[in-house]
Amino acid sequence: MGLTVIRNADSVVTMDDARSEIADGAIAFRNGVVVAVGPTGALAHVIDAADTVIDARGCVITPGLVNTHHHLYQSLTRAVPGGANASLFGWLKCLYPIWANYRPEDVRAATRLGLGELALSGCTLSSDHLYLFPDGVTLDDTIEAAATIGIRFHPTRGSMSVGVSAGGLPPDSLVESEPAILRDTIRVIDRYHDASDGAMVRVGVAPCSPFSVSQGLMRDSALLARDKRVMLHTHLAEDADDVAFSLERFGCRPGQYADDLGWTGPDVWHAHCVQLDHDEIDLFARTRTGVAHCPGSNCRLGSGVAPLRRMVERGVPVGLGVDGSASNDSGNLLAEARQAMLLQRVTGGAGAFDPRTALYIATRGGAQMLGRSNCGSLEPGKRADLAVWDMADLFSLGAWDKVAALVLAPPPGARDVFVEGRAVVRDGELVQSSRAEIVRDAQRSVARLMRLA
Ligand SMILES: [Zn+2]
Repeated sequence: MGLTVIRNADSVVTMDDARSEIADGAIAFRNGVVVAVGPTGALAHVIDAADTVIDARGCVITPGLVNTHHHLYQSLTRAVPGGANASLFGWLKCLYPIWANYRPEDVRAATRLGLGELALSGCTLSSDHLYLFPDGVTLDDTIEAAATIGIRFHPTRGSMSVGVSAGGLPPDSLVESEPAILRDTIRVIDRYHDASDGAMVRVGVAPCSPFSVSQGLMRDSALLARDKRVMLHTHLAEDADDVAFSLERFGCRPGQYADDLGWTGPDVWHAHCVQLDHDEIDLFARTRTGVAHCPGSNCRLGSGVAPLRRMVERGVPVGLGVDGSASNDSGNLLAEARQAMLLQRVTGGAGAFDPRTALYIATRGGAQMLGRSNCGSLEPGKRADLAVWDMADLFSLGAWDKVAALVLAPPPGARDVFVEGRAVVRDGELVQSSRAEIVRDAQRSVARLMRLA
């Protein structure tokens, strides 16, 4: 791959340790790796040698946004009427029967739709949590679909094993046997997980939640993940019902439950954690257990306001997640960063949370939490994952501080997105996939699912 330089950006937000922002900045990358970052004038010799030079006047360049929690399959079930005004458990019960009708082609269409949406809005690395496998659906469907979009993908092999008849929440038709879950998890790790520096796919292990799998499966999943050196992910302490379930069923709070089963540590990240108390936050900080903060979904389901500021102050690794599109219902990470900041201000006052902190969580914070410390910042030697934001268009024009404006007055999409040095979005359009084809396939799947509902 040749040398590419993007120059004359109003600001390059590096997210390095000093959180440097470079005015009239430029960035150069080759073979998927950043080779230089600095003022455009100081990089003249690099620009002279470049194979491709891109002008970014009026733009801000940031590390690519990182999405730490999603259920891409849900992209075909946005704004479903029966679940529109329900909280978590009621919402799930409304949607399970619809999801039970999915086929592999629906999961593929939904994955491309959701990742296309994320890429166009500046995301370069997304995790995914697929925990139901009706009618021949496999994790492979999402991995193959993701490769067509071009962003880094961290799929997690989810699972549900405790159905209604055993005291769980999901219908029995959507749960799997635990030996089959573990067998298939081993299969997908062995087939797809890549531990290398520039890996485009890393697989994680992700039983759905304490209310849909057994303690045995939680424990076995942790053992398996550590044996395979992959990460662990689940939902935890999402709302008051979730905590009540834990107290009633397991006799302890969610943090204790997680810790007892081996679900704390730097190789674990939990989605939501809206209801963590102070002791649980300290436990997560001490053990470097990560949290995927999903403010849009938490608002939509009325789950509460996560103690984000406290988690950040105590040193809990935090990333941002859009969560599945059945509970958000859009997948735009800058919108999530804005929501995260606003929610902390609602409860903590105007000084409670800063736009740059929100941007940090949306980039480097998320990358570190997912074990990708080689992503999330723009420094020589790091992977060339970045987004170019046009701040001179009408959505953001008028901003004096253009970096803060990314969170306060975000543009609806990125102008350009590069992952591993390869263009994924140019001039607001997907490069590696046909947008029309993604839309057509998703429309066909939605029509079928609506007919069956
Ligand atoms: Zn979720």
